[in-house]
Amino acid sequence: MCGIFGMIGSKDAANLVYLGLYSLQHRGEESTGIVSYDGEKIVYHKSMGLVSETFNEDNLSLLKGDIAIGHVRYSTTGLSHSKNIQPFFAKHKKGNIVISHNGNLTNTVELQNEMEDKGSIFQTTMDSETITHLIARASNKDFKKDIISALFRLEGAYSLILMTDDLMVGARDPHGFRPLCLGELDGAYILTSETCSLDLIDAKYVRDIEPGEIVFISKGKLESVKPFPKKKHSLCIFEYIYFARPDSDIFGENVYSVRKNLGKQLAKEYPVDADFVMSIPDSGNSAAVGYSHESGIPFEIGMIRNHYIGRTFIQPSQLVRDFRVKIKLNPIKDVLKGKRVVIVEDSIVRGTTSRSRVRTLRKAGVKEIHMRVSCPPIISPCYYGIDFPNKEELIANRHDIKWIKDFIGVDSLKYLSVDGMLKSMPKAKSEFCTACFNGDYPAKIPKIFSKDILEKA
Ligand code: AMP
Repeated sequence: MCGIFGMIGSKDAANLVYLGLYSLQHRGEESTGIVSYDGEKIVYHKSMGLVSETFNEDNLSLLKGDIAIGHVRYSTTGLSHSKNIQPFFAKHKKGNIVISHNGNLTNTVELQNEMEDKGSIFQTTMDSETITHLIARASNKDFKKDIISALFRLEGAYSLILMTDDLMVGARDPHGFRPLCLGELDGAYILTSETCSLDLIDAKYVRDIEPGEIVFISKGKLESVKPFPKKKHSLCIFEYIYFARPDSDIFGENVYSVRKNLGKQLAKEYPVDADFVMSIPDSGNSAAVGYSHESGIPFEIGMIRNHYIGRTFIQPSQLVRDFRVKIKLNPIKDVLKGKRVVIVEDSIVRGTTSRSRVRTLRKAGVKEIHMRVSCPPIISPCYYGIDFPNKEELIANRHDIKWIKDFIGVDSLKYLSVDGMLKSMPKAKSEFCTACFNGDYPAKIPKIFSKDILEKA
């Protein structure tokens, strides 16, 4: 869970990367950074925290140059620590190499062990650093070939943006787990996780980077290669369900439209008599609209989200129970009192969020709550970059639906079927990774787990 954005060929590169990162903030709120090349040296600013907390006029003005790449991070591999903030950069005998990575590699530990045996020293626990080491160790005459041979060693999920002093590289793993697309603004090229960031800066969407494709962009020219043997496409279906922004097009389709289809399908599979359909803002909004359209039951806004909270440091006290939930969402009692409602949720992971929201709704006087979830039960962890906890923390892995219904405290609970979910997608079902719903992992899963697990312990 990370967002990446890079630009080459604009004198405002870093400023535009900054704006791009703003619109990718939903992909990671933990840390952020931008690195540019000012014509003489690499310059950077990175920090824990949000884009709005990290950058200001002063530090942005130092990020000069016509090439810059940025990153917003949600740690999946690598501890939540300032040394792990991306973009990651290193200097080696062939020059500077900077990297922004989204996705999880599944053979990082094997690769790091192999390189440590040969004397490498790693500064971080991030799989992205492994990639820079592989590039530095490659011994082709051509730097582009070094990148290709390094990427050949990787397994798992990666959408990457790399930069040197005058070259920007975009790469997507052969399965295509995570999105990455190409944009253009006044002759400058952009690589980004999601198209909503192109809209913000009035850039044109050119196309998606294809699974297994590497693009090299320099001096206004783009060269594309597809060096890897073909692998089964395994686009992350959870990007459509929860992760990507609804105003983005990913994998060739608008996210809002797909979510609406999921909601429509849910209404076909699990109709219920109710006074209105509502969502828990914002993640369930699009599917709830779909459910309402299909069922003919009106859509209402039953809860209001406070968009201005940022980070809160006040310790919850006995006086203010459920402080974190309450500060974010407040029910509209007048709408809810005495009503039978269908709540459409995008997903249930641990079940704790739904449980506390349902309690809030009960307190507001709702008569009946029928929860409909726009994806199937999540039963298996993700090793390719979505932060799903270990198996034991996934409520649907440990309990049946009746138990979950009672735990959350609703009158009925239904999940969309796997077939229904796949039917709602814009591409053939064989194109998607659905491992979190059926444990069917399309790429090797890690044999050895990250050293972070040891560090965390
Ligand atoms: P919970 O069931 O308490 O773990 O919370 C599930 C809710 O968190 C969902 O309704 C989503 O809106 C959101 N969510 C889904 N997947 C994730 C994830 N990997 N990380 C953080 N939040 C998530």
